[in-house]
Amino acid sequence: MGDLYALDFDGVLCDSCGESSRSALKAAKIRWPNLFNGVDSSLEQWILDQMHFVRPVVETGYENLLLVRLLLEIQIPSIRKSSVAAGLTVEGILENWSKLKPVIMEEWNENRDALIDLFGKVRDEWIDNDLSGWISANRLYPGVADALKFASSRVYIVTTKQSRFADALLRELAGVTIPSERIYGLGTGPKVEVLKQLQRKSEHEGLRLHFVEDRIATLKNVIKEPELDGWNLYLGNWGYNTQKEREEAASIPRIQVLDLSAFSNKLK
Ligand SMILES: [Mg+2]
Repeated sequence: MGDLYALDFDGVLCDSCGESSRSALKAAKIRWPNLFNGVDSSLEQWILDQMHFVRPVVETGYENLLLVRLLLEIQIPSIRKSSVAAGLTVEGILENWSKLKPVIMEEWNENRDALIDLFGKVRDEWIDNDLSGWISANRLYPGVADALKFASSRVYIVTTKQSRFADALLRELAGVTIPSERIYGLGTGPKVEVLKQLQRKSEHEGLRLHFVEDRIATLKNVIKEPELDGWNLYLGNWGYNTQKEREEAASIPRIQVLDLSAFSNKLK
């Protein structure tokens, strides 16, 4: 018997919030240049600060662009094009993001794939122009690099990030190369489907299966799938989740709430 770990990337291995917020701000300025007329550096900094609070709602990177614009609409009434910004607070975004998102996508007339594409391009440009600056806007959580280096378990990365970015960060920040067939990134399908693929592989027969995530909604999707009943599920409490979500996870028998040192020890 051995262990197989499927690991989320952002909020489990890597604190990328500073980088994704700055990439989103750059991309938002390209997508909606007129909205940023007269936006000074202190308002930009306010947006970047708020992005840390709302980060738990983000499932896929492009949503950061939507959050940047929504925060801007909250601050500047004259540029509002959405019906939801008036009176909206950061707490309101945390509570209601799944309802707000389709409304603003429609009212702003935006397209998911186009935003994903733009967000990826902005990152690629940042990497091309200033690799060390881009890398240093990310950090691995303490102990993660060694835990990956010395892991005796079979490790897969299951992330909504584009694989090439996860790969670059693991190489640069951890000195670890995870073979590309072990990184399931954006475009490889929903995480529940990736977990099914992993457990069906004949080479994984008999392994204990573990999935570590920081997003409770994703873990709840796994619980809904009877085929995935064999997976041990963990919510990392150091990642992008709220106190309320951690309490909810603790009340669900199937989910174990894990702290960072327990996680590192498990991988070894
Ligand atoms: Mg995550």
